[in-house]
Amino acid sequence: MKSIFSNLTDDQKKWKEQVDAVLKVELEPHVEAIESGKKDVIDVIKALGKHGYCGITFPEKYGGLGLTVMHELILTEAICSYSLPVDMSRLSGSYPAMLAKFFGKMRDLKDYIEPLVKGEKIGAFCFTEPDAGSDLSRMKTIAEKDPATGELILTGEKRFITNGSVADVLVVYARNGAFIIDSKWKGFEVVEEYKMMGLHGLHLGHIKFNAIRVPAKNALFFTEIKPASAGQGKTGKTDAISAMQDMLSPERIMLSVQALGVAKTALKIASDYSQSREQFKQPISAFEGISFKIADMATKFEAAKALVEKSVNAMQNGTLAAMAKLFSCQVAFEICDDAVQILGGIGYTNKYPVERCLRDVRLLRIGGGTDEIMKYIIQKGIYKGEMEKELKPGDAKPSMFG
Ligand SMILES: Cc1cc2nc3c(=O)[nH]c(=O)nc-3n(C[C@H](O)[C@H](O)[C@H](O)COP(=O)(O)OP(=O)(O)OC[C@H]3O[C@@H](n4cnc5c(N)ncnc54)[C@H](O)[C@@H]3O)c2cc1C
Repeated sequence: MKSIFSNLTDDQKKWKEQVDAVLKVELEPHVEAIESGKKDVIDVIKALGKHGYCGITFPEKYGGLGLTVMHELILTEAICSYSLPVDMSRLSGSYPAMLAKFFGKMRDLKDYIEPLVKGEKIGAFCFTEPDAGSDLSRMKTIAEKDPATGELILTGEKRFITNGSVADVLVVYARNGAFIIDSKWKGFEVVEEYKMMGLHGLHLGHIKFNAIRVPAKNALFFTEIKPASAGQGKTGKTDAISAMQDMLSPERIMLSVQALGVAKTALKIASDYSQSREQFKQPISAFEGISFKIADMATKFEAAKALVEKSVNAMQNGTLAAMAKLFSCQVAFEICDDAVQILGGIGYTNKYPVERCLRDVRLLRIGGGTDEIMKYIIQKGIYKGEMEKELKPGDAKPSMFG
């Protein structure tokens, strides 16, 4: 299927062709098996890792492909047109490496980075806690320095963590820092793996850190704060939270692209089906009730594509990134819902993937910041005049994807 991105360069078109060919072999045959629990999503990630797909933007000397964020987005869209959980697991899998790059700790943490970038080990990104979801200032996880050894003692818990129950290496955000930890270390505990309405096969974990001893070099950054004043759900924005929020715009654009990857599949299936299914002696596409639905779906899709493309070209405009996420994830959900409707009864069964698309894509209106939080960010940006500012190339802040 055609890319959602217009004006691809020859190199990017060639990359898309290569990606499509690899996914046909390494992903397409396994999508239904992942859904039904017969194939572990992690095996697919490891196979994709062998093609370099877990480290697109990483330098070759660290096992990556040394390509651009645009190559990453093209890959994300292509994977999501088959399976959203696979792409979520892939992206989360390399988060610890991406953050080590972002914080300039590649050399110190080389031993963790290479296996993650090559997909040999699986990573996870831990931010959300039972009491801290949209409101991250309620985070309780904290690190305390052991003056005798210089190690950092990490205590807390995280829930809804993609790959959380199976990860080898995790990046954990605390009130006072961010740390790369190994799940084999003493004190790491998997509390449970969630069952979900969609994204079947994705390993979503609730995990605990019971006074894990973290070597100082594994801190991406760390500020000492008195444990007495922390750990009580005290509100307030810490350096860790501010640093994290700076990186979220590119992540939100990624989620927008994921949404459109899923929607593209649903739209294509609905359009094809409406032309082949006959009722009342004609294809159902002959009824305006159906064809006008296709018109609405295609129009929403094109509008979302334009907004996402605009946000890709202004990666660090947080207001625009929030708009792209809000709009494309809502529109993708509506498109998948209409696709189920167009297919009628068969759309509600698993004979076609539209019901899976609908269940999977629903997450994107919650994960990575809910619709409501996107609206909060957008209105704040509008009142601050963010949309009036022209971003010059030099203004772009570093992002974890590029
Ligand atoms: C499948 C899946 C994968 C995930 N992967 C990860 C991961 O890898 N790492 C990670 O750290 N987290 C992950 N998450 C967590 C996800 O980011 C959070 O679920 C999300 O940020 C919302 O937090 P919450 O669930 O605690 O909801 P809450 O914050 O409790 O929100 C509940 C409701 O209240 C609304 N609300 C809250 N505050 C406001 C407000 N100020 N104004 C208006 N409405 C408001 C919300 O929009 C929502 O509708 C994942 C979640 C899921 C389901």
